[in-house]
Amino acid sequence: MTQNNGSDPQQGAVRSNRIVCKFGGSSLASAEQIRKVQAIVNADERRRIIVPSAPGKRDAGDTKITDLLYLCHHAASVGTDFSEPFEMISRRFTGIEQELRLPAVIGPHLELFHEELTRGVTADFAASRGEHFSGLLLAALLEADFVEPADYIVIGANGLVDARTWALLGERLADVERRYVIPGFYGRDVDGQLRTFSRGGSDVSGAVAARAANAMLYENWTDVSGLLMADPRIVDQPKPMEEVTYSEIRELSYMGASVLHEEAMAPVREVGIPVNIRNTNAPQHPGTRIVAELSAEEVASTQIAGVAGKTSFAMITIGKNLMNREVGFVYRLLGVFEHHGIPFEHCPSSIDSVSVIVEAKWLEGRVEQVLDEIRRTMEPDEIDYVPGIALIAIVGEEMARTPGIAARVFAALAAAGVNVRLINQGASELNIIVGVAPEDYPAAVRAIYGAFVDRRAAAT
Ligand code: ASP
Repeated sequence: MTQNNGSDPQQGAVRSNRIVCKFGGSSLASAEQIRKVQAIVNADERRRIIVPSAPGKRDAGDTKITDLLYLCHHAASVGTDFSEPFEMISRRFTGIEQELRLPAVIGPHLELFHEELTRGVTADFAASRGEHFSGLLLAALLEADFVEPADYIVIGANGLVDARTWALLGERLADVERRYVIPGFYGRDVDGQLRTFSRGGSDVSGAVAARAANAMLYENWTDVSGLLMADPRIVDQPKPMEEVTYSEIRELSYMGASVLHEEAMAPVREVGIPVNIRNTNAPQHPGTRIVAELSAEEVASTQIAGVAGKTSFAMITIGKNLMNREVGFVYRLLGVFEHHGIPFEHCPSSIDSVSVIVEAKWLEGRVEQVLDEIRRTMEPDEIDYVPGIALIAIVGEEMARTPGIAARVFAALAAAGVNVRLINQGASELNIIVGVAPEDYPAAVRAIYGAFVDRRAAAT
C-alpha cells in the first residue's frame, strides 16, 4: 500500500505507451541470462524503463548476491574477515562485465565498496549494492541512462513508498524517447538515508517506476511462464493462468501462492496499470496478465482463477448455549487474542458456537494460557482446540455470478473422501474457503483443481 498524502501528477493523466520491465535475479544471474534480457528489451521499443534485481542463483547450489552482501556486512560489522563472500561478489560482477565485453568500470566501484564496508555502512546500503552494480552493467549494455533510486524513490517509516516519489521519479523518467535503467530494491528514507524495501523488493520498485512513469504496462520478467492455477508440488503440471484480477491475486497470495512481493501490487493497482508476469527463458510465452477486470473471453472460459492453501493453521472452537443472545460475545473472545498479540485469520460462527482460526505458530508455547483465559472470560460450555488445520481457498471473480461452484467443490471433496471441517465464504464472494485435516490437504487440492480445470484450461 502506498501513502496517499501527496500529489500524484500521473493520476488521471493520459497513459504513455511505455512499458516498465523488471528483471528478477535469475534473469540477471550470468552473462548468458543478461543477453536474453538484452534481446527482450530490444524486441519492443516501448520497453523503455528497465528495473534490475541483483544477480541471483545460477543453479540450485549457487548463492544470491544479496545474501552474500548481507554476509559481508555482518562480518564487517563485527570486525571479522569478509574476504570470502566479497571475492565471490567481485568475481561474479567482473566475470559478467568481461563476458559481456563491456568497458571495465565495475572494478573501482567494487574497491570503493570494500572501503565503505571496512569503514562501516548500514546493512541496507550493503544489500543495495547488488542492484546498484547490476544496474550499472545493464545501463552500459543497453546504452541507457542510469537512474539512482536513492535520489528519486522515497520510502516512508512504514517501509512503504512515500507519495512524494510519483512527482520526483515521474519527472526524472519524463523523456519518453530515452531508455532508463533504475536499480530495484532500494530508495531513501525521508531523512535522506539509503533504505531498502523488504526482501524481494525489486518487484515493488518496478511497480513504483510503472506508476511514476504512468506506463501502459508493468512487465515482471522471472523464470516461470506466468502463475499457475495450483501448487505444482501437489497438482501435476497445473495450467498457467492467462488473466487474473488484482483482487484474485491478493486472495491467492494471502493463501500462500507465491506471486509477486506483497506490496508490489498496490502502486499499479491504484491507477489500473496491468501487470504481465513473463519468463525470460521463454519470451514467446504470453505469461499471466494481472488486470482490474477480466476480458470477456476470459470470463467466458473462467470459473475459478486458482486454488491455494496452507496447512499451518490452528482452530479454537467454543460452544455456549444461547451465545447468540449475549451482546459482545465475539468481541470479548477476540479480545483474548488481542491481549496475547495474536492476529486472527477467520472467525466462522453458528448460533451457539464460534471458531477462531489463527496461524498455528502464534499459539506455540502458550496454548494453555490462551485456553485458560478464554475459559475464565467467556465461561463456555465446551472448548475444543485443533492444533492443525489446512485451509484451501478457491478463488474467482466470477464465482458470485455463477451458480453451482460450491456444489462442484463439495461434490469433488466428497468423491475424494475428504471430510470438510469448516466452510467460509467471504461476503465479496471472491473465494470459498474450506478447512480440512492437514493429511487430507493434497487430496483435497487435487480434487478441487480437477473439478474446475477443464473449463479454464480450454482457453490456454
Ligand atoms: N535482491 C533483493 C533480494 O534478494 C531484492 C529482489 O531481488 O527483489 O531480496
